[in-house]
Amino acid sequence: VSQERPRWPFAFCPSCGSVKIEFQNERRFRCHDCGFGYYHNVATGSGVLIVSDGRLLLLRRGRNPGKGLFTVPGGFVDPGESAEEAVVRECREEAGLEIDPGCLRYLTSAANRYLFGDVPYTTCDIFFYALLSGIEPRIDGREATEALFVGPEELDPAILAFPSTRLAAAKLALLIS
Ligand SMILES: [Zn+2]
Repeated sequence: VSQERPRWPFAFCPSCGSVKIEFQNERRFRCHDCGFGYYHNVATGSGVLIVSDGRLLLLRRGRNPGKGLFTVPGGFVDPGESAEEAVVRECREEAGLEIDPGCLRYLTSAANRYLFGDVPYTTCDIFFYALLSGIEPRIDGREATEALFVGPEELDPAILAFPSTRLAAAKLALLIS
């Protein structure tokens, strides 16, 4: 991949304080003095493309990365959670929606990069879709500042914050067209 490699934000080994540290393959942190190793493994993200009466629900992001751009309800999977449970929780937190996990259908997964607080995260985002009707989101104004319903065929991918969400939206458009 020719994308820029984010700098690892740690300057010292967290175990011995040495500066002889290395961040290998965007994943393995290693100290050449004390041998301390740490795997900054790929994190799981989970999101859902909710189609209500034929229109896709998008949320405008209130925070970086991608502040002001749109995404779908979702976020990092918490320890102990399944991808489905994470999506149900995020729908509740971000959009005030109670989604029945039985409505979720698997759509696709996609790799993503996510710079948060100067720490470079790589994620594998899992996307579900749900075909519903009469959805009325309630936006908290912080994580999400606006809800938008758009027909999948009229969606401009440039308004989406993440490449993984663009890929998921394209797959959804093929699926329901
Ligand atoms: Zn060390």
